[in-house]
Amino acid sequence: MTSVPPRLPPAIELRRVAKSFGTVQVCRDVDLAIETGEFVTLLGPSGCGKTTTLNMVAGLEDSTSGDILLAGRRVNELSPVERDVAMVFQNYALYPHMTVAENIGFTLRMRGMKRAEIATRVTAIAASLELSHVLERLPAQLSGGQQQRVAIGRALVREPRIFLFDEPFSNLDAALRVKMRAEVKQLHQRLGVTSLFVTHDQEEAMSISDRIAVMNRGRVEQFGTPEEIYARPATRYVASFIGNPQIELMPGTVEAADGRPAVRLGAQVLPLPGDGRFRPGQKVEIGIRPEHVRLGAGDLSASVRLVQPVGPLSHVVLDWDGGSLTATLPGFSRLQPGERVSAAISPDDMLVFDQETGLRL
Ligand code: ATP
Repeated sequence: MTSVPPRLPPAIELRRVAKSFGTVQVCRDVDLAIETGEFVTLLGPSGCGKTTTLNMVAGLEDSTSGDILLAGRRVNELSPVERDVAMVFQNYALYPHMTVAENIGFTLRMRGMKRAEIATRVTAIAASLELSHVLERLPAQLSGGQQQRVAIGRALVREPRIFLFDEPFSNLDAALRVKMRAEVKQLHQRLGVTSLFVTHDQEEAMSISDRIAVMNRGRVEQFGTPEEIYARPATRYVASFIGNPQIELMPGTVEAADGRPAVRLGAQVLPLPGDGRFRPGQKVEIGIRPEHVRLGAGDLSASVRLVQPVGPLSHVVLDWDGGSLTATLPGFSRLQPGERVSAAISPDDMLVFDQETGLRL
């Protein structure tokens, strides 16, 4: 008889976690289960409760209600040190008077580890983060990216079970942010430490995560892989938060055209998938992603308002009598403002939301 290996409890689990500051509730009904080795991001706009959620996992903030479990053990009452998590902050919090080597080895010295062993560990971590040549420098003598890597090194050296990152790249310039994303992702692929990462940058979240929890006003609206979140957003909010340029959302009413469902937007009628999801009279909101607008064919008549080349792609903003629409085309577009174009959108590419609830139909 083959035996099924026992399922490990999630590395991090939040069960109906809520948090209020006085009368203001900033997290409500947060349920999350993060598997061992996963890289998960909490994504949402400023003030949605991401940092508060992270701080509750770290033990820096008490929850008002609900349970927090690490590897199946309830830790609500445990201190940050007892939880065996390492946190990397926005402002790095490096000790300015200590060298890079002393900064990385600091927590090991506090634990009373022998000097030789500390040196071995610090050397190995520094090599993996490409910091070997700056070990004797002070933080002020480092670039922003190097300081960030020292902060990560200081967390790594403790060999924690869990890594928590609170917007760790927000003080870096745009180019360095993109580079650090790749570095953190490769580090995670190599070491496989369970990681919970906070950001308000959807592109950062998409590029780095195994799964993303999209938060809105203290709640998790959707928890899924980057592809699920992008291609099958659960709500209008998730659809509009993810994607650059933003998805175009247009209110409309379902009607039957030749016995098939369609949606009227202004004077135009666009066919919807005929899979029984829609009924005539239903108030909906249609979401169209820029890469799904095909130009040069189709019944939608529009005029070009703006062409924005970004190198590999051009974003073309169109006006039509149903509103505006952005189309993403490969390369440098030759279209001119004012030019008339025809456009087509496949029914299967349209995301359709209930106008009232915002849920995807
Ligand atoms: P940001 O990206 O701006 O940090 P966030 O999504 O991480 O936003 P939180 O920092 O978790 O949001 O804050 C959520 C809400 O809780 C905010 O409205 C904030 O003002 C409030 N808040 C956070 N900490 C406290 C506190 N100690 N006392 C009172 N209110 C707080």
